Amino acid sequence: MIIVPEKEIAGLLTRADAFEAVEKVFASMSKGSAYNFPVIREAIGYEDALYGFKGGFDKSGMALGLKAGGYWPHNLEKHGEINHQSTVFLFDPDTGKVKAMVGGNLLTALRTAAASSVSIKHLARKDAKVMGMVGAGHQATFQLRAALEQRNFEKVIGWNYHPEMLPNIEKVASEAGVPFEAVPLEGLVEADVVISITSTFAPTIMADHIAPGTHIACMGTDTKGKQEVEASLLARATVFTDEVAQSISIGEAQHAIASGLIAQSDVHELGAVINGTHPGRTRADEITLFDGTGVGLQDLAVAASIVDLAVEKGVATIVDF
Ligand code: NAD
Repeated sequence: MIIVPEKEIAGLLTRADAFEAVEKVFASMSKGSAYNFPVIREAIGYEDALYGFKGGFDKSGMALGLKAGGYWPHNLEKHGEINHQSTVFLFDPDTGKVKAMVGGNLLTALRTAAASSVSIKHLARKDAKVMGMVGAGHQATFQLRAALEQRNFEKVIGWNYHPEMLPNIEKVASEAGVPFEAVPLEGLVEADVVISITSTFAPTIMADHIAPGTHIACMGTDTKGKQEVEASLLARATVFTDEVAQSISIGEAQHAIASGLIAQSDVHELGAVINGTHPGRTRADEITLFDGTGVGLQDLAVAASIVDLAVEKGVATIVDF
């Protein structure tokens, strides 16, 4: 078994590699050659932790396995460890034998940022100039860094529930040489692309905060009950997702579906746009909305893309198992 430790991931996986792996696996899912297994997520009744498994099989990429992990809210204060903890396990699809164990924390941030970036590449207007951010936590910095590579953005505007966290994303914008401005939520109408990546259970982005022609990537809602945008925005938008089953049950679309504002058939796979079987954006004034719920196959794709490289570079440990 090949072990790739968490501390080596930064030196192995570039944003471009993560983007390519995620774009390929979304395409594969839409062709029916890759599928995710049902997600297991449990409150374990200890340390207030949420723990679970996201797995799948990609026959085109020959990636089989799972990501195990979750959220330990007291890690940072008690143990100096980050609250999100995960590990990816890959198995040989020919034999079922375990192939690799890969640190999953940075992988999660890079594959999540790659997902919204893939949506921006395929759905945002080519002339997008203003990038809007809602959220300024751990994931937001990765999201913004990757998004800024997708269009010639001239300005970043941002809002966060905890305004004291805004310097996190201002720093990313300034490192990319793009000016940053903090705005009220109403100021988001200026944005051509918006990413929301927060852990809120009540919508903060209202339908009239988003101008016609905007592409919005909703990345924070990955659990039943969470909600970042007003459900009526989904009725005004053309809605895309990584996986329809997750979008309507644990993603942003769960609320619009429950209130009858949209039907399951209104939620389209981003993979279909990548494969050319859905036209994607068809008008400059269309609002496109990507509901990025986060699927196990994204984790497997990025993990599988670095295992051989880790061995080549001598940073992996090989154990006889
Ligand atoms: P974090 O704790 O570092 O940041 C949380 C963010 O949410 C901050 O911007 C905070 O100000 C904001 N927030 C908290 N309470 C809020 C409220 N009541 N209203 C509005 N905003 C509020 O978390 P993170 O690691 O950056 O993760 C953000 C979200 O993304 C979480 O919900 C997480 O589960 C989700 N996530 C999704 C994926 C995916 O694949 N879609 C992957 C990883 C994380």
